[in-house]
Amino acid sequence: MGRVLITGAAGFLGSHLCDRFLAEGHEVIGMDNLITGDLKNLEHLFKEERFEFYHHDVSKFIHVPGDLDYILHFASPASPIDYLKIPIQTLKVGSLGTHNCLGLARAKNARILVASTSEIYGDPHVHPQTEDYWGNVNPVGPRGVYDEAKRFQEAMTMAYHTYHGLETRIVRIFNTYGPRMRLNDGRVLPAFIGQALRGEDLTVFGDGSQTRSFCYVDDLVEGIYRLLMSDCADPVNVGNPDEITIGDFAEEIIKLTGTDQKVIYKDLPKDDPTQRRPDITKAREILGWEPKVSRAEGLKITYEYFKSLPEEELYKKEH
Ligand code: NAD
Ligand code: UDP
Repeated sequence: MGRVLITGAAGFLGSHLCDRFLAEGHEVIGMDNLITGDLKNLEHLFKEERFEFYHHDVSKFIHVPGDLDYILHFASPASPIDYLKIPIQTLKVGSLGTHNCLGLARAKNARILVASTSEIYGDPHVHPQTEDYWGNVNPVGPRGVYDEAKRFQEAMTMAYHTYHGLETRIVRIFNTYGPRMRLNDGRVLPAFIGQALRGEDLTVFGDGSQTRSFCYVDDLVEGIYRLLMSDCADPVNVGNPDEITIGDFAEEIIKLTGTDQKVIYKDLPKDDPTQRRPDITKAREILGWEPKVSRAEGLKITYEYFKSLPEEELYKKEH
């Protein structure tokens, strides 16, 4: 068993990764500056002897005493409204933060996995997206701060692999959902469920014909664990290929929640990708991985989670 550093540990995905690595018997150090995360996501771990938490901004030099076997770099704002609000920090954590994590991995002789994203494909011209597609990103558009930071992250990670022989892994994550997402983070699933629970109309951006493919968090975590333990240094897509239009997704949430609210249409944000669906042939072949949780099952669990939150969470303003 190893000693693992997880950056972004207080966030949605980071906290689930902490749970998984502890369950596998590892020692886990969670690191976070809480800019979009919440310690509530980790409070169930504070009594766990194999868990430590460091409050730190990874865009600044990272000091961790002792050995490390693995680093998972997940720190970064991830929701469009978050990275539009804190664009410079987003660029810094994807670039300087990644550089610091890579330097730490080199110093500790640790294997590192970085969280990349389907956003590196931008508004894709190839569908579904395969790993050898280079993407269609507007570097100076509003989403550029996130997309280009993540593209730089991949380039930097590959350079450490090629020039320093560091053991690196790059996971390209497609839209993932599940318990511990923030109800007010602006992403489509918490937005729709929050609206249904508050008795508001569901806001579909554009005409709702744009598509996404939603992966349940447990499936994603399994794919990440397998990728880390594999010997594949090239980027691998991990996501659920079950594609749906946002308009149809709103109808699914209306059925799931039983709300009598309707759909209303708002302007489509600039550069919003029109189609997104992972080609997961590589993950199937190299990792023997594919998603197991259907959208119907995953949505039910996630809805139960949101319903169980104290009512004030429903009316909390964004970070
Ligand atoms: P999140 O906002 O819930 O978690 C991100 C965490 O990183 C937060 O706890 C935040 O406080 C922390 N953080 C941000 N900047 C930091 C810094 N400079 N130093 C230390 N901590 C910092 O988002 P998430 O959905 O859990 O995303 C986690 C990672 O996965 C991100 O790197 C994101 O780009 C990637 N990703 C997520 C998705 C998805 O669908 N959830 C899709 C693609 C990629
Ligand atoms: N979206 C929407 N209504 C909302 C929030 C988002 O129609 O209240 C749309 C958004 O324009 C995008 C899709 O849902 O087309 C997914 O948005 P999200 O922010 O969840 O993720 P991303 O665009 O990064 O995939």
